[in-house]
Amino acid sequence: MPSYDPHAASAGGRRVLIIGGGTAGITTAARLRRAGVGGVTVLDPADTHWYQPLWTLVGGGQAPLKSTCRPEASVIPEGVTWIRDAATTVDPDAGQVTTAGGKELGYDYLVLAPGIQLNWQGVPGLADAVGHDAVSSNYAPEHAPRTWELIRRMRSGTAVFTQPSGPFKCGGAPQKIAYLAADHWRRKGRLADIRVVLAIPDAAIFKAPAYVPILERVVARYGIEVRLQSELVGLDPANREATISDNATGRKDVLRYDLLHAVPPQSAPDWIRAGTPFSDPASPFGYVEVDKHTLVHPRYPNVFALGDAANLPTSKTGAAVRKQAPVVVANLLAAMAGRPATARYDGYTSCPLVTARDKMVLAEFDYDLRPTPTVPLIDTRKERRDMWLLKRYGLPALYWHGMLKGRM
Ligand SMILES: Cc1cc2nc3c(=O)[nH]c(=O)nc-3n(C[C@H](O)[C@H](O)[C@H](O)COP(=O)(O)OP(=O)(O)OC[C@H]3O[C@@H](n4cnc5c(N)ncnc54)[C@H](O)[C@@H]3O)c2cc1C
Repeated sequence: MPSYDPHAASAGGRRVLIIGGGTAGITTAARLRRAGVGGVTVLDPADTHWYQPLWTLVGGGQAPLKSTCRPEASVIPEGVTWIRDAATTVDPDAGQVTTAGGKELGYDYLVLAPGIQLNWQGVPGLADAVGHDAVSSNYAPEHAPRTWELIRRMRSGTAVFTQPSGPFKCGGAPQKIAYLAADHWRRKGRLADIRVVLAIPDAAIFKAPAYVPILERVVARYGIEVRLQSELVGLDPANREATISDNATGRKDVLRYDLLHAVPPQSAPDWIRAGTPFSDPASPFGYVEVDKHTLVHPRYPNVFALGDAANLPTSKTGAAVRKQAPVVVANLLAAMAGRPATARYDGYTSCPLVTARDKMVLAEFDYDLRPTPTVPLIDTRKERRDMWLLKRYGLPALYWHGMLKGRM
Protein backbone atom coordinates (compact mmCIF):
# COMPACT_ATOMS: atom_id res chain seq x y z
CA MET A 1 0.00 0.00 0.00
CA PRO A 2 1.43 3.45 -0.88
CA SER A 3 2.50 5.59 2.03
CA TYR A 4 0.10 8.50 2.63
CA ASP A 5 1.75 11.74 3.65
CA PRO A 6 -0.87 14.30 4.76
CA HIS A 7 1.52 17.20 4.83
CA ALA A 8 4.32 16.45 2.42
CA ALA A 9 4.93 20.19 1.97
CA SER A 10 6.23 20.46 5.49
CA ALA A 11 8.20 17.23 5.42
CA GLY A 12 11.89 17.32 6.15
CA GLY A 13 11.92 16.50 9.83
CA ARG A 14 8.88 18.47 10.94
CA ARG A 15 5.88 16.23 10.52
CA VAL A 16 4.13 16.00 13.88
CA LEU A 17 1.37 13.42 14.15
CA ILE A 18 -0.89 13.57 17.18
CA ILE A 19 -2.97 10.45 17.85
CA GLY A 20 -6.14 11.58 19.62
CA GLY A 21 -7.98 14.89 19.34
CA GLY A 22 -9.36 14.96 22.87
CA THR A 23 -8.24 17.19 25.71
CA ALA A 24 -4.55 16.29 25.41
CA GLY A 25 -4.31 16.12 21.62
CA ILE A 26 -6.02 19.43 20.90
CA THR A 27 -4.22 21.30 23.69
CA THR A 28 -0.89 20.05 22.35
CA ALA A 29 -1.80 20.88 18.73
CA ALA A 30 -2.87 24.40 19.69
CA ARG A 31 0.35 25.02 21.61
CA LEU A 32 2.46 23.73 18.74
CA ARG A 33 0.70 26.09 16.33
CA ARG A 34 1.24 29.01 18.74
CA ALA A 35 4.92 28.09 18.76
CA GLY A 36 4.89 28.39 14.96
CA VAL A 37 5.21 24.68 14.19
CA GLY A 38 3.75 23.66 10.82
CA GLY A 39 2.93 20.20 9.53
CA VAL A 40 0.83 19.24 12.56
CA THR A 41 -1.81 16.54 12.01
CA VAL A 42 -4.42 15.28 14.47
CA LEU A 43 -5.72 11.76 13.90
CA ASP A 44 -9.08 11.09 15.58
CA PRO A 45 -12.17 9.22 14.35
CA ALA A 46 -14.64 11.06 16.63
CA ASP A 47 -16.89 13.79 15.25
CA THR A 48 -17.59 15.17 18.73
CA HIS A 49 -15.23 16.66 21.31
CA TRP A 50 -16.38 16.23 24.91
CA TYR A 51 -15.67 18.26 28.02
CA GLN A 52 -15.97 15.26 30.34
CA PRO A 53 -15.58 17.01 33.74
CA LEU A 54 -19.13 18.37 33.38
CA TRP A 55 -20.58 14.85 33.07
CA THR A 56 -20.54 14.71 36.89
CA LEU A 57 -22.89 17.68 36.98
CA VAL A 58 -25.01 16.20 34.16
CA GLY A 59 -25.49 13.12 36.35
CA GLY A 60 -26.24 15.40 39.28
CA GLY A 61 -28.91 17.30 37.34
CA GLN A 62 -26.88 20.51 37.30
CA ALA A 63 -25.85 20.81 33.65
CA PRO A 64 -27.39 19.76 30.31
CA LEU A 65 -25.48 17.15 28.32
CA LYS A 66 -25.40 19.37 25.25
CA SER A 67 -23.30 21.95 27.14
CA THR A 68 -20.50 19.37 27.40
CA CYS A 69 -19.70 18.91 23.70
CA ARG A 70 -18.77 20.67 20.48
CA PRO A 71 -18.15 19.36 16.96
CA GLU A 72 -14.58 18.06 16.67
CA ALA A 73 -14.09 20.22 13.55
CA SER A 74 -14.67 23.35 15.66
CA VAL A 75 -11.82 22.59 18.08
CA ILE A 76 -9.15 21.72 15.50
CA PRO A 77 -6.71 24.66 15.62
CA GLU A 78 -6.26 26.70 12.47
CA GLY A 79 -3.44 25.36 10.34
CA VAL A 80 -3.73 21.84 11.77
CA THR A 81 -4.83 18.95 9.54
CA TRP A 82 -7.50 16.65 10.95
CA ILE A 83 -7.68 13.10 9.64
CA ARG A 84 -10.90 11.45 10.71
CA ASP A 85 -9.64 7.92 11.23
CA ALA A 86 -8.37 5.69 14.03
CA ALA A 87 -4.80 4.52 14.58
CA THR A 88 -4.45 0.75 14.71
CA THR A 89 -0.69 0.13 14.64
CA VAL A 90 2.53 2.11 14.86
CA ASP A 91 5.88 1.11 13.43
CA PRO A 92 8.32 3.44 15.20
CA ASP A 93 11.32 2.21 13.21
CA ALA A 94 9.64 3.21 9.95
CA GLY A 95 7.98 6.26 11.57
CA GLN A 96 4.59 5.13 10.34
CA VAL A 97 1.07 4.84 11.70
CA THR A 98 -1.54 2.59 10.11
CA THR A 99 -5.20 3.48 10.43
CA ALA A 100 -8.46 1.54 10.53
CA GLY A 101 -9.29 3.11 7.17
CA GLY A 102 -6.14 1.63 5.62
CA LYS A 103 -4.00 4.79 5.49
CA GLU A 104 -0.33 4.82 6.30
CA LEU A 105 0.77 8.08 7.86
CA GLY A 106 4.42 9.03 8.11
CA TYR A 107 5.69 11.07 11.03
CA ASP A 108 8.88 12.55 12.37
CA TYR A 109 7.47 13.22 15.82
CA LEU A 110 4.60 11.28 17.34
CA VAL A 111 2.40 12.44 20.21
CA LEU A 112 0.28 9.70 21.77
CA ALA A 113 -2.94 11.06 23.28
CA PRO A 114 -5.65 8.47 22.57
CA GLY A 115 -7.20 8.56 26.06
CA ILE A 116 -8.39 5.65 28.11
CA GLN A 117 -10.50 2.56 27.41
CA LEU A 118 -13.62 1.83 29.48
CA ASN A 119 -13.82 -1.91 30.10
CA TRP A 120 -17.51 -2.45 30.83
CA GLN A 121 -16.95 -6.18 30.34
CA GLY A 122 -14.51 -6.14 33.27
CA VAL A 123 -17.35 -6.66 35.76
CA PRO A 124 -19.65 -9.59 34.88
CA GLY A 125 -23.14 -8.27 34.18
CA LEU A 126 -22.19 -4.59 33.97
CA ALA A 127 -22.01 -4.19 30.18
CA ASP A 128 -25.59 -5.43 29.77
CA ALA A 129 -26.97 -3.62 32.81
CA VAL A 130 -25.59 -0.11 32.37
CA GLY A 131 -28.11 2.25 30.87
CA HIS A 132 -31.04 0.03 31.84
CA ASP A 133 -33.35 -0.21 34.80
CA ALA A 134 -31.55 1.10 37.92
CA VAL A 135 -27.95 1.11 36.66
CA SER A 136 -26.13 4.14 35.35
CA SER A 137 -22.69 5.69 34.96
CA ASN A 138 -21.47 9.23 34.44
CA TYR A 139 -18.53 7.78 32.52
CA ALA A 140 -20.42 7.69 29.23
CA PRO A 141 -22.36 10.63 27.84
CA GLU A 142 -25.22 8.39 26.74
CA HIS A 143 -25.73 7.28 30.36
CA ALA A 144 -24.97 10.40 32.45
CA PRO A 145 -28.46 11.95 32.03
CA ARG A 146 -29.95 8.67 33.28
CA THR A 147 -28.00 9.03 36.55
CA TRP A 148 -29.99 12.17 37.31
CA GLU A 149 -33.28 10.51 36.34
CA LEU A 150 -32.57 7.73 38.84
CA ILE A 151 -31.51 10.16 41.59
CA ARG A 152 -34.52 12.40 41.02
CA ARG A 153 -37.01 9.55 41.12
CA MET A 154 -35.59 7.75 44.16
CA ARG A 155 -37.64 8.04 47.34
CA SER A 156 -36.27 5.19 49.47
CA GLY A 157 -34.12 2.05 49.28
CA THR A 158 -30.41 1.46 48.69
CA ALA A 159 -28.13 3.48 46.42
CA VAL A 160 -24.72 1.99 45.65
CA PHE A 161 -21.80 3.98 44.17
CA THR A 162 -18.67 2.10 43.09
CA GLN A 163 -15.08 2.84 42.04
CA PRO A 164 -12.89 0.34 40.13
CA SER A 165 -9.44 -0.74 41.21
CA GLY A 166 -6.47 0.23 39.03
CA PRO A 167 -5.86 3.63 37.43
CA PHE A 168 -8.94 5.35 36.04
CA LYS A 169 -9.77 8.87 34.93
CA CYS A 170 -10.79 11.51 37.45
CA GLY A 171 -10.08 9.90 40.80
CA GLY A 172 -12.87 11.81 42.53
CA ALA A 173 -15.75 11.29 40.08
CA PRO A 174 -17.08 8.02 41.61
CA GLN A 175 -17.61 9.72 44.97
CA LYS A 176 -18.64 13.19 43.74
CA ILE A 177 -21.88 11.82 42.32
CA ALA A 178 -22.65 10.14 45.66
CA TYR A 179 -22.39 13.54 47.38
CA LEU A 180 -24.55 15.28 44.77
CA ALA A 181 -27.18 12.55 45.14
CA ALA A 182 -27.10 12.52 48.96
CA ASP A 183 -27.38 16.30 49.11
CA HIS A 184 -30.37 16.21 46.79
CA TRP A 185 -32.11 13.58 48.92
CA ARG A 186 -31.25 15.53 52.10
CA ARG A 187 -32.81 18.70 50.68
CA LYS A 188 -35.93 16.76 49.66
CA GLY A 189 -36.19 15.16 53.11
CA ARG A 190 -35.63 11.65 51.73
CA LEU A 191 -32.10 10.91 52.91
CA ALA A 192 -33.25 9.18 56.13
CA ASP A 193 -35.06 6.59 53.97
CA ILE A 194 -32.12 5.94 51.65
CA ARG A 195 -29.10 3.81 52.49
CA VAL A 196 -26.13 5.21 50.57
CA VAL A 197 -23.17 2.86 50.09
CA LEU A 198 -19.86 4.03 48.60
CA ALA A 199 -17.36 1.29 47.66
CA ILE A 200 -13.74 2.46 47.28
CA PRO A 201 -10.97 -0.07 46.51
CA ASP A 202 -8.26 1.90 48.31
CA ALA A 203 -7.37 1.92 52.01
CA ALA A 204 -8.45 5.57 52.32
CA ILE A 205 -11.30 7.54 50.79
CA PHE A 206 -8.90 9.67 48.71
CA LYS A 207 -5.36 9.23 47.43
CA ALA A 208 -3.92 12.53 48.68
CA PRO A 209 -3.99 12.36 52.52
CA ALA A 210 -4.49 16.12 52.99
CA TYR A 211 -8.06 15.83 51.67
CA VAL A 212 -9.11 12.74 53.63
CA PRO A 213 -10.32 14.53 56.82
CA ILE A 214 -12.63 16.90 54.95
CA LEU A 215 -14.09 14.04 52.89
CA GLU A 216 -14.62 11.99 56.04
CA ARG A 217 -16.64 14.90 57.45
CA VAL A 218 -18.66 15.03 54.20
CA VAL A 219 -19.56 11.31 54.28
CA ALA A 220 -20.44 11.60 57.99
CA ARG A 221 -22.74 14.55 57.24
CA TYR A 222 -24.72 12.48 54.74
CA GLY A 223 -24.50 9.24 56.72
CA ILE A 224 -22.85 7.48 53.77
CA GLU A 225 -21.68 3.93 54.48
CA VAL A 226 -18.13 3.87 53.10
CA ARG A 227 -16.67 0.48 52.30
CA LEU A 228 -12.92 0.80 51.87
CA GLN A 229 -10.81 -1.78 50.02
CA SER A 230 -14.03 -2.81 48.31
CA GLU A 231 -15.15 -2.96 44.71
CA LEU A 232 -17.95 -4.15 42.46
CA VAL A 233 -17.16 -7.63 41.11
CA GLY A 234 -20.50 -8.82 39.78
CA LEU A 235 -23.98 -7.69 38.92
CA ASP A 236 -27.30 -9.48 38.66
CA PRO A 237 -29.56 -6.86 37.10
CA ALA A 238 -32.63 -9.12 37.01
CA ASN A 239 -32.59 -9.30 40.82
CA ARG A 240 -30.95 -5.90 41.27
CA GLU A 241 -28.07 -7.42 43.18
CA ALA A 242 -24.51 -6.09 43.26
CA THR A 243 -21.65 -8.21 44.56
CA ILE A 244 -19.11 -6.15 46.43
CA SER A 245 -15.81 -7.78 47.26
CA ASP A 246 -13.88 -6.75 50.35
CA ASN A 247 -10.32 -7.04 49.07
CA ALA A 248 -8.85 -7.03 52.59
CA THR A 249 -10.79 -10.05 53.87
CA GLY A 250 -11.82 -11.66 50.57
CA ARG A 251 -15.44 -11.57 51.75
CA LYS A 252 -18.13 -11.02 49.12
CA ASP A 253 -21.29 -9.23 50.03
CA VAL A 254 -24.43 -9.17 47.90
CA LEU A 255 -26.28 -5.86 48.14
CA ARG A 256 -29.76 -5.34 46.78
CA TYR A 257 -29.82 -1.95 45.09
CA ASP A 258 -32.46 0.48 43.90
CA LEU A 259 -29.85 2.67 42.22
CA LEU A 260 -26.36 1.68 41.15
CA HIS A 261 -23.79 4.16 39.83
CA ALA A 262 -20.88 2.10 38.50
CA VAL A 263 -17.52 3.26 37.18
CA PRO A 264 -16.04 0.61 34.86
CA PRO A 265 -12.47 -0.75 35.13
CA GLN A 266 -10.16 1.07 32.72
CA SER A 267 -6.96 0.49 30.77
CA ALA A 268 -4.96 1.77 27.83
CA PRO A 269 -6.74 1.20 24.50
CA ASP A 270 -6.20 -2.41 23.38
CA TRP A 271 -4.46 -1.35 20.14
CA ILE A 272 -1.65 0.28 22.13
CA ARG A 273 -0.73 -3.12 23.55
CA ALA A 274 -1.52 -5.11 20.43
CA GLY A 275 -0.30 -2.76 17.72
CA THR A 276 2.64 -0.82 19.14
CA PRO A 277 5.78 -1.42 21.21
CA PHE A 278 4.92 1.54 23.49
CA SER A 279 3.14 -0.10 26.45
CA ASP A 280 4.98 0.11 29.72
CA PRO A 281 6.03 -3.42 30.73
CA ALA A 282 5.55 -2.23 34.32
CA SER A 283 1.88 -1.39 33.72
CA PRO A 284 -0.57 -4.31 33.90
CA PHE A 285 -3.05 -1.98 32.20
CA GLY A 286 -0.91 -1.35 29.11
CA TYR A 287 -0.44 2.39 29.59
CA VAL A 288 2.24 4.05 27.46
CA GLU A 289 5.75 4.02 28.86
CA VAL A 290 7.06 7.52 29.24
CA ASP A 291 9.57 9.37 31.37
CA LYS A 292 7.40 10.76 34.16
CA HIS A 293 9.10 14.16 34.03
CA THR A 294 9.97 14.76 30.35
CA LEU A 295 7.01 12.78 28.89
CA VAL A 296 9.36 11.32 26.26
CA HIS A 297 9.28 7.59 25.51
CA PRO A 298 12.49 6.06 26.95
CA ARG A 299 13.27 4.03 23.82
CA TYR A 300 11.91 6.31 21.10
CA PRO A 301 13.08 9.93 21.62
CA ASN A 302 10.71 11.22 18.92
CA VAL A 303 7.65 9.73 20.67
CA PHE A 304 5.80 11.61 23.43
CA ALA A 305 2.75 10.66 25.48
CA LEU A 306 0.39 12.58 27.71
CA GLY A 307 -3.12 12.44 29.08
CA ASP A 308 -5.02 9.39 30.25
CA ALA A 309 -3.09 6.92 28.04
CA ALA A 310 0.31 7.75 29.55
CA ASN A 311 1.60 5.59 32.40
CA LEU A 312 2.16 8.45 34.84
CA PRO A 313 1.87 7.85 38.59
CA THR A 314 -0.65 10.61 39.14
CA SER A 315 -4.40 11.00 38.91
CA LYS A 316 -5.59 11.07 35.29
CA THR A 317 -7.37 14.39 34.74
CA GLY A 318 -7.78 17.21 32.27
CA ALA A 319 -6.11 19.46 34.85
CA ALA A 320 -3.04 17.22 34.67
CA VAL A 321 -3.10 17.53 30.86
CA ARG A 322 -3.03 21.33 31.23
CA LYS A 323 0.39 21.02 32.92
CA GLN A 324 1.63 18.18 30.69
CA ALA A 325 0.99 19.79 27.29
CA PRO A 326 3.49 22.67 27.72
CA VAL A 327 6.13 20.12 28.75
CA VAL A 328 5.50 17.95 25.68
CA VAL A 329 5.62 20.99 23.41
CA ALA A 330 8.83 22.37 24.96
CA ASN A 331 10.55 19.00 24.74
CA LEU A 332 9.31 18.40 21.20
CA LEU A 333 10.67 21.79 20.12
CA ALA A 334 13.95 20.91 21.84
CA ALA A 335 14.09 17.62 19.92
CA MET A 336 13.48 19.51 16.65
CA ALA A 337 16.37 21.80 17.51
CA GLY A 338 18.63 18.91 18.47
CA ARG A 339 18.64 19.92 22.14
CA PRO A 340 17.99 17.63 25.14
CA ALA A 341 14.56 17.47 26.78
CA THR A 342 14.76 19.70 29.84
CA ALA A 343 11.14 20.69 30.51
CA ARG A 344 9.72 18.72 33.44
CA TYR A 345 6.25 17.76 34.63
CA ASP A 346 5.94 17.43 38.41
CA GLY A 347 2.82 15.23 38.47
CA TYR A 348 0.44 18.14 39.11
CA THR A 349 -3.18 17.07 38.98
CA SER A 350 -6.35 18.49 40.37
CA CYS A 351 -9.72 17.13 41.29
CA PRO A 352 -12.65 19.46 41.85
CA LEU A 353 -14.38 17.48 44.61
CA VAL A 354 -18.01 18.53 44.47
CA THR A 355 -19.25 17.79 48.00
CA ALA A 356 -22.76 19.28 47.80
CA ARG A 357 -25.06 20.86 45.23
CA ASP A 358 -23.38 24.21 45.88
CA LYS A 359 -20.03 23.32 47.43
CA MET A 360 -16.65 22.15 46.23
CA VAL A 361 -13.18 21.39 47.58
CA LEU A 362 -10.41 21.89 45.04
CA ALA A 363 -7.90 19.08 45.56
CA GLU A 364 -4.58 19.86 43.87
CA PHE A 365 -1.46 17.74 44.36
CA ASP A 366 1.71 16.42 42.71
CA TYR A 367 3.61 13.12 42.36
CA ASP A 368 4.35 13.20 46.10
CA LEU A 369 0.62 13.69 46.87
CA ARG A 370 1.54 17.04 48.44
CA PRO A 371 -1.08 19.80 48.12
CA THR A 372 -0.09 22.26 45.39
CA PRO A 373 -2.75 25.00 45.60
CA THR A 374 -2.78 27.35 42.62
CA VAL A 375 -5.66 29.68 43.50
CA PRO A 376 -4.24 32.71 45.35
CA LEU A 377 -5.61 34.17 48.61
CA ILE A 378 -8.39 31.67 49.40
CA ASP A 379 -8.27 28.29 51.14
CA THR A 380 -9.43 25.88 48.45
CA ARG A 381 -9.07 22.92 50.82
CA LYS A 382 -12.36 23.87 52.47
CA GLU A 383 -15.86 23.38 51.01
CA ARG A 384 -16.62 26.59 49.16
CA ARG A 385 -19.47 27.94 47.05
CA ASP A 386 -17.17 30.08 44.87
CA MET A 387 -15.29 26.90 43.92
CA TRP A 388 -18.56 25.23 42.89
CA LEU A 389 -19.26 28.22 40.64
CA LEU A 390 -15.76 27.81 39.21
CA LYS A 391 -16.49 24.16 38.42
CA ARG A 392 -19.89 24.83 36.86
CA TYR A 393 -19.11 27.98 34.87
CA GLY A 394 -15.46 29.07 35.16
CA LEU A 395 -13.58 25.89 34.25
CA PRO A 396 -15.67 25.03 31.16
CA ALA A 397 -15.07 28.56 29.79
CA LEU A 398 -11.36 28.30 30.53
CA TYR A 399 -11.33 24.93 28.79
CA TRP A 400 -13.01 25.92 25.52
CA HIS A 401 -11.49 29.40 25.22
CA GLY A 402 -8.14 28.99 26.99
CA MET A 403 -6.80 25.46 27.14
CA LEU A 404 -7.99 24.24 23.73
CA LYS A 405 -6.64 27.44 22.16
CA GLY A 406 -3.20 26.81 23.66
CA ARG A 407 -3.49 29.94 25.80
CA MET A 408 -3.31 28.31 29.24
C1 LIG B 1 -17.19 11.56 34.68
C2 LIG B 1 -15.87 12.23 34.48
C3 LIG B 1 -15.53 13.31 35.26
C4 LIG B 1 -14.32 13.94 35.10
N1 LIG B 1 -14.04 15.03 35.89
C5 LIG B 1 -12.89 15.70 35.72
C6 LIG B 1 -12.63 16.88 36.45
O1 LIG B 1 -13.46 17.32 37.26
N2 LIG B 1 -11.46 17.53 36.25
C7 LIG B 1 -10.54 17.08 35.35
O2 LIG B 1 -9.51 17.72 35.18
N3 LIG B 1 -10.74 15.94 34.63
C8 LIG B 1 -11.90 15.25 34.79
N4 LIG B 1 -12.15 14.13 34.04
C9 LIG B 1 -11.04 13.50 33.27
C10 LIG B 1 -10.73 14.17 31.94
O3 LIG B 1 -11.89 14.32 31.17
C11 LIG B 1 -9.69 13.33 31.22
O4 LIG B 1 -8.60 13.10 32.08
C12 LIG B 1 -9.19 14.01 29.95
O5 LIG B 1 -10.24 14.12 29.03
C13 LIG B 1 -8.02 13.25 29.35
O6 LIG B 1 -7.68 13.73 28.09
P1 LIG B 1 -7.15 12.75 26.93
O7 LIG B 1 -6.91 13.63 25.76
O8 LIG B 1 -6.07 11.90 27.44
O9 LIG B 1 -8.38 11.80 26.63
P2 LIG B 1 -9.76 12.19 25.93
O10 LIG B 1 -10.09 13.61 26.21
O11 LIG B 1 -10.72 11.14 26.34
O12 LIG B 1 -9.47 12.10 24.37
C14 LIG B 1 -9.04 10.91 23.74
C15 LIG B 1 -9.27 11.09 22.25
O13 LIG B 1 -8.58 10.06 21.53
C16 LIG B 1 -9.42 9.62 20.49
N5 LIG B 1 -9.03 8.26 20.12
C17 LIG B 1 -9.31 7.11 20.77
N6 LIG B 1 -8.78 6.07 20.10
C18 LIG B 1 -8.15 6.57 19.02
C19 LIG B 1 -7.42 5.99 17.95
N7 LIG B 1 -7.24 4.66 17.86
N8 LIG B 1 -6.91 6.79 17.00
C20 LIG B 1 -7.08 8.13 17.07
N9 LIG B 1 -7.77 8.74 18.07
C21 LIG B 1 -8.29 7.96 19.02
C22 LIG B 1 -10.83 9.72 21.06
O14 LIG B 1 -11.81 9.77 20.03
C23 LIG B 1 -10.75 11.01 21.86
O15 LIG B 1 -11.12 12.13 21.09
C24 LIG B 1 -13.38 13.48 34.14
C25 LIG B 1 -13.72 12.39 33.33
C26 LIG B 1 -14.96 11.77 33.49
C27 LIG B 1 -15.33 10.62 32.60
